[in-house]
Amino acid sequence: MVLFKKAADLRNYLDAKRKNGMSIGFVPTMGALHAGHLSLIAASKKETGLTVCSIFINPTQFNDPVDFQKYPVTTEEDILSLTQQQCDVLFIPDAGEIYPDEMSMKQRYPLGRLEEVLEGKFRPGHFQGVCMVVHRLLDIVQPDILYLGQKDYQQCKVIASLLELTGFDKSVSIKICPTLREPDGLAMSSRNRRLNEKERKKAAAIFRALQYIRENINREPLSQLKETAARMLEEKGFRVDYISIADAAALEETDVLLPDKKMVALAAAYLGQVRLIDNLILE
Ligand code: AMP
Repeated sequence: MVLFKKAADLRNYLDAKRKNGMSIGFVPTMGALHAGHLSLIAASKKETGLTVCSIFINPTQFNDPVDFQKYPVTTEEDILSLTQQQCDVLFIPDAGEIYPDEMSMKQRYPLGRLEEVLEGKFRPGHFQGVCMVVHRLLDIVQPDILYLGQKDYQQCKVIASLLELTGFDKSVSIKICPTLREPDGLAMSSRNRRLNEKERKKAAAIFRALQYIRENINREPLSQLKETAARMLEEKGFRVDYISIADAAALEETDVLLPDKKMVALAAAYLGQVRLIDNLILE
């Protein structure tokens, strides 16, 4: 694996590969890698000629400074995992490489309703930060395929919208990979490392609450399903931000079944200081 810290060096390296006709797969991450991240690397390795992973804890997407300070950093382990996974290129920029000046942190993206609902509502500014960093990384890497996890369902929609807004949709396609879970169902997440032993035992309740919604979607009114799911979490000591059942495309919340439309159940809740999110597609 080749490691780059400077955007210009990475760009030169990738330009040469591209000239040789190599297709490039890109997996942007914030590090503290787990099997979920590595599944994205594996998907890219299968489908493209060269896989680039980036690790950058993006300050502009954290609306909570404590969350930023406490975000786990495990760079040495990450490098080892990526090497074992035979990732081709790792990009670990510092903040100056991504945000060279004030202006680069001020760009605004017209995301419309997408950033007013769910995560956008509870984490103001979060998706603008996501767009800033992904836009900059796309400029540098110019991949053919961008690999994202369904775990961050709304983020996938936001990034699809970013590609359209920036014209990258003409050269980059998105592949959304399934959410990898722990044996008890908890979605793998870098933030799970911050759960203490007691919290970790309770954490899978978020998956069970979503499963409850999926299993009973045709049996109970949606408002009742959401209430029951919230209660399931609160009983375990979660503080719920939202439990939502929405149209899977536009992410607009619905209180009635939408025939002919795919729907998704999404949840965000705190366990102690740690905020967890998860989602399930409702067939
Ligand atoms: P992060 O490091 O949390 O920014 O995540 C980097 C990428 O990995 C994003 O596209 C995430 O959606 C994806 N990802 C995170 N957790 C999982 C998981 N459990 N399964 C699959 N992909 C994931």
